[in-house]
Amino acid sequence: MSVIEMIVELQHIRAARERIAGKVERTPIVLSQSLSDRAGRPVHLKLEHHQTTGAFKLRGASNAIAALSAEEKSRGVVAASTGNHGRALAHAAKLEGIRAVICMSRLVPENKLDAIRRLGADIRIVGNSQDDAQQEVDRLVAEEGLVMLPPFDHPDIVAGQGTLGLEIMEQVPDAAAVLVPLSGGGLAAGVAAAVKGVSPRTKVIGISMARGAAMKASLDAGRPVQVEELPTLADSLGGGIGLDNRLTFAMCRGLLDDVVLLSEEEIAAGIRHAYEEEREIVEGAGAVGIGALLAGKVEVNGPTVLILSGKNIDMDLHRRIVCGETIAERAA
Ligand SMILES: *Cc1c(COP(=O)(O)O)cnc(C)c1O
Repeated sequence: MSVIEMIVELQHIRAARERIAGKVERTPIVLSQSLSDRAGRPVHLKLEHHQTTGAFKLRGASNAIAALSAEEKSRGVVAASTGNHGRALAHAAKLEGIRAVICMSRLVPENKLDAIRRLGADIRIVGNSQDDAQQEVDRLVAEEGLVMLPPFDHPDIVAGQGTLGLEIMEQVPDAAAVLVPLSGGGLAAGVAAAVKGVSPRTKVIGISMARGAAMKASLDAGRPVQVEELPTLADSLGGGIGLDNRLTFAMCRGLLDDVVLLSEEEIAAGIRHAYEEEREIVEGAGAVGIGALLAGKVEVNGPTVLILSGKNIDMDLHRRIVCGETIAERAA
């Protein structure tokens, strides 16, 4: 396949939306009074953490599974996942009545692992990084014939995540900027393709944690590079983009207007604000848009949309953060 054919465009995202209609929720968007007051412009929250399985990943997983042939479905699907993609794939596979095997590293929190097990997927825990988990995926593809559906670097996954961007532009047609949590870039690439396909002047800004921001390091280097994977409050943003990245690196390079990095304290402030002011429970990755606004790290020049991308946080950790435990206390 050529590089050009790999780029996901508006037409693929519209096709994805038809394919997954009835399988995913159209999530609400609400005006945040407190953030709007602070920014002096309307700030809207896309409540995607209310999505079935607790994160947007169900969009991509549902689209990719629906696009498989009957023969591929009979072989089953496999993926490496830090949690939410695995959960989404397990859910979508179960709906479709097909087998799912999920490989993950030991860094994945227990609550995420349990949720996937309960959905009936086979779980393999391998090594200390996403790359180790990926090696097990490659083995299952080669030896057992399973079909790999990766968390982000796949056109049907990106197109599925892009349906979130279509909804945003229908809900806030005059959006000047959309802030997107950024890890492997499946969400950011899909949302940016949809948003800019509909409204070329709307800015799309990626937000990552400073601890191990692989896409940011890769964009700076001009090619996919590896960074050390570190524990972070935004655990769903952990992991590399793949040195052989085929799709999301090029799309993020072409479509994102900026990438902003947050400290752990800034992410914690986002989680706390979501809870105290918006009455929403979000995980670290889902809180980075709020964290970036609170930290003054993005300029707000017009109506702005923040994607609250997931809610799958360990509730004991959430309690400690909203009670004001600092990062230094947590490390001690
Ligand atoms: C996976 C995930 C992200 C990042 O998505 P990418 O496509 O890897 O950039 C952000 N937030 C949550 C909650 C996620 O699960």
